[in-house]
This record gives sequence, C-alpha cells and structure tokens, in this order.
Amino acid sequence: MNIDQQTTISRIKTLTELHGAPGFEDNVKDYLISAMEPYVDEFVYNRMGGFYGVKRSKVANPKRVMVAAHMDEIGFMITNISKQGMIQFTNLGGVATDIWQGQRLKIKTRNNEEITGVVANIPKHFRTGSEGAPKIEDLMLDIGCEDDASVIARGVQIGDTIVPDTPLTQLSDYRFASKAWDNRYGCLIGLELLELLKDETLDFDLYVGANVQEEVGLRGARAAAELIDPDVAFVVDCSPANDMKGKQNLSGELGGGTLIRIKDGTMLLKPSFRDYLLEIANDQKINHQYYISPGGTDGGEIHKARIGIPTAVIGVCARYIHSTDSVFDIRDYFAARHLLYEATKRLDDDQIQTLQYK
Ligand SMILES: [Zn+2]
Repeated sequence: MNIDQQTTISRIKTLTELHGAPGFEDNVKDYLISAMEPYVDEFVYNRMGGFYGVKRSKVANPKRVMVAAHMDEIGFMITNISKQGMIQFTNLGGVATDIWQGQRLKIKTRNNEEITGVVANIPKHFRTGSEGAPKIEDLMLDIGCEDDASVIARGVQIGDTIVPDTPLTQLSDYRFASKAWDNRYGCLIGLELLELLKDETLDFDLYVGANVQEEVGLRGARAAAELIDPDVAFVVDCSPANDMKGKQNLSGELGGGTLIRIKDGTMLLKPSFRDYLLEIANDQKINHQYYISPGGTDGGEIHKARIGIPTAVIGVCARYIHSTDSVFDIRDYFAARHLLYEATKRLDDDQIQTLQYK
C-alpha cells in the first residue's frame, strides 16, 4: 500500500489552510473525521473536544496503542473593535511579538465565515525610529471597515479567533511554505497511517486522533490519555528548526529526517523506546536525527497519565513555526511516516511489555 505524493500534497494544502485556533478546532476535526472514517471502526470523543478513530483488532482483550496529534494552531482572539473599525486581539499560544505588523491574518466568525485583514503598522515615512516591537495588545487588524458598526455588520464579534491567512506554496522540489505545519503535520500523518494500515490486522486496538488546545499549554492531552488509557502512545508533532546558519547542536535540520526526540522541557524518551525506534530506523534506512528542545509536546502530559504511559514523539522540524509561514521539507514527513508505520505495525504484546517495564 502506498499513497500517491500528489494526494499527500493536496491534503497538506487543505489541512494547513484550515482555521483552527486553540479551543476553536471544529473545522479541522470535521475534515479529519470524514477523511479517517473509511479506515476506522468507530470514533471516541472526550469532553474537551478531542477525538480518536479506533481500528479494532480481532484478538480478545487487546492492548491499546494511541497516536496523538493536536489540531490547534497558534492564533489570536478578538478583544476590542475600535470606533475606527480596527480590531484588537490577544494571543492564543506562544508567539514572538515582532513578526505580525504588515501581515495578512484571517478571522473566523461565528457563522464560520473567514474575513481577511492586514495588521496595521506605521509607514516608514512617519516613524521616529524609536517605536520598537509593539506588544500584542497594541497590534490592530484592519479589515477595511470605516467604523465599529460596519465591522459588527460583517459578523465579527469580540471572542472570535484569528489565524494567519497563508496559502500553501511549493518553494522548491521538496520544500514548502505554509502556516500551521505545527501541527497539521500530526493530523496528516495520523490519517495516512490509517490509510497505510488499511489491509492489515493488528494485534492491538489502534486509536488515532487529535487533541485540542496544545498551543495554550498541553491542555487537551490528559483527557484523551485518560479516556483511552493506552498501553503505548506515539505523539506526532512538529518542532522548531534552528538551522538557517547551519545546524545548531540538536535543534533540528531541514532534510535531516525524522526527529528522535530524546529530551525536551516536558518529557525524556525512555531508553527502551529510544532503542526500539533506532533499531527500526537503522534497519529500514530511515533518515533520522536526534533532537532536543526546551519546549514540549502533548507527550509531556500523556506519559504521566494513569500509571505511566510509555510515550515517544515521532516528529519533524520546520523553520519559523508559530509565525505566519513555516518552511518544511516533505522528505522529513515521509521519513516520519515510514518510522511511525513500522513502529506501529511491529508492536505486539511482548514488545509492548518491554516498552512498558524496561
Ligand atoms: Zn506549536
């Protein structure tokens, strides 16, 4: 079973262009549920908004394996509509303050309509030179309205969310620019894992899905882990690369393959799990690189849930994430997908036992 590369690219376009700020992930969830539906037996839902497709095994008392993405992306929430028709907002997730002026962002209204605007900035001609980077609360989105009444007439309200308005662009043979590769990467790899496993019968029940609100502090992950109570979990997430002037330590290099994430601010990779992944990567000649990050993933919550859940992150890195555009290399995606596919397919009761207690 293989997936045509154009199918993957068109899924990347759809997924990365969807509007899914933290807490407002419904558009992403609706797309994923309909795309995963042919490959799963049922869906389970937690009460925070996360969902998982379940591919049942034929064995009695099967173990449970979880593959967890997050559906949300960094964004903003509207806090004020000024008399002049300008829109002010607060951030949802961690963003640098100095990259937003002059950028195009899009609002999602309560009727699920998208409205594009430009973040206001003072033209160079009128600057004194001492402006510095504005705080997020001083930024304003200009959607072309002359006053507050016309903004409201278009359906925009306080509490609505905003994300970058960035179409997927292919930059070169293997590299693309998009918003939200963190973490529609994870949504895509989960969907394609299910498709690749379509004709396989597994020794365990496989739960593949996505959590909400990762970007505001891993808030959706625990509800998912406690609902499923998995024996093993894979977290699929996209991490920042810092290789523009050459690779810096273990901070990720585009085209360097999937990430073997041995340490981050929320989790250490168990040695037995590390060795399981390395053995597969070496055996299958899957391009991979060690990765260390001060940040974290939903793995930070999942591995501590219940009595402890052996968890590994199967990731990729991308440049400039948490901004309007990330740049990523699709070969890294294929390496990650190959590793996740093999690491899932090879699991059986003995291997799971080893990952749990060694
Ligand atoms: Zn992120």
